Amino acid sequence: MLLSDKIYIAGHRGMVGGAIKRALEKRGFTNLLVRTSAELDLRSQVEVNQFFREEQPAYVFLAAAKVGGIVANNTYRAEFLYDNLMIETNIIHAAYETGVKKLMFLGSSCIYPKMAPQPLKEEYLLTGLLEPTNEPYAIAKIAGIKLCEAYRDQYGCNFISVMPTNLYGMGDNYHPQNSHVLPALIGRFHEAKERGDAAVVVWGSGTPKREFLYADDLADACVFLMETYNDKSLVNIGTGEDLSIKELAYLVKEITGFEGDIVFDTSKPDGTPRKLMDVSKLHGLGWKHTTSLKEGIRAAYQDFLKKAHAMA
Ligand code: GDP
Repeated sequence: MLLSDKIYIAGHRGMVGGAIKRALEKRGFTNLLVRTSAELDLRSQVEVNQFFREEQPAYVFLAAAKVGGIVANNTYRAEFLYDNLMIETNIIHAAYETGVKKLMFLGSSCIYPKMAPQPLKEEYLLTGLLEPTNEPYAIAKIAGIKLCEAYRDQYGCNFISVMPTNLYGMGDNYHPQNSHVLPALIGRFHEAKERGDAAVVVWGSGTPKREFLYADDLADACVFLMETYNDKSLVNIGTGEDLSIKELAYLVKEITGFEGDIVFDTSKPDGTPRKLMDVSKLHGLGWKHTTSLKEGIRAAYQDFLKKAHAMA
């Protein structure tokens, strides 16, 4: 990629697209193309075709998607399937028609089969049944990966797919019920500290293990792969390290400065016992994360505080 190449970041208002935009700006790319959803409805084939014909981007990061936690995924099943299929199909086909040089599609670790062995290797995709609660989202994301592969096979397009692990960072969703565990705990521990509560409730037994990657590290990996990787096969992006929810809770307690106790509510579901990426392929390609979990949570907490103050 040349610093002057026109690069379209679909989904720049989201946590991932925002981080990709920052990563490109930091490296000196000057010709970044973005649109808000009010300006361009990515579910509209007419609007997307017109946008690509007018703007002719050379590179595309496809980080736009309808996303959410388990409750949202399960409640809005039709929207998760329809919106995501439309966004991907419209962008990938328009990229092919207008001769985009390279496109990167972002999948997710939650689209691997529910019972896949750990750590999750790239070749486990489509080897078993999906988690029923997020099946619509997973089917749409798998379709996106298959579109990239098929447009490469049939038309020779250089479209690649990556699989990020659980992410957190700037611009995360801190909704107490609908968010993922890390932002939920940051919000809950902070509020408990402010109120002087005696204890914070953490869902489940605390024994499930999860891997977390700082969104700016993911963005760095995406730019690295956009510049160096040209294969059909997927690449996992993660840290390759996990910790228990209990360990995570104690880390968030320390960082937020909450001084009370932690209580585990075992009436809440634990979910999958473990979800860890095999990142040997990524490491072999020459990329490794740089932000430790502690540093990353500190930065995310600062971002949360800024937003909390702005709302107050
Ligand atoms: P998952 O990775 O798809 O299971 O998604 P989550 O991030 O929602 O949950 C991960 C683990 O954290 C599960 O074992 C949850 O029970 C546990 N957990 C503990 N407290 C919370 C919380 O406040 N919110 C969420 N979402 N999960 C929590």
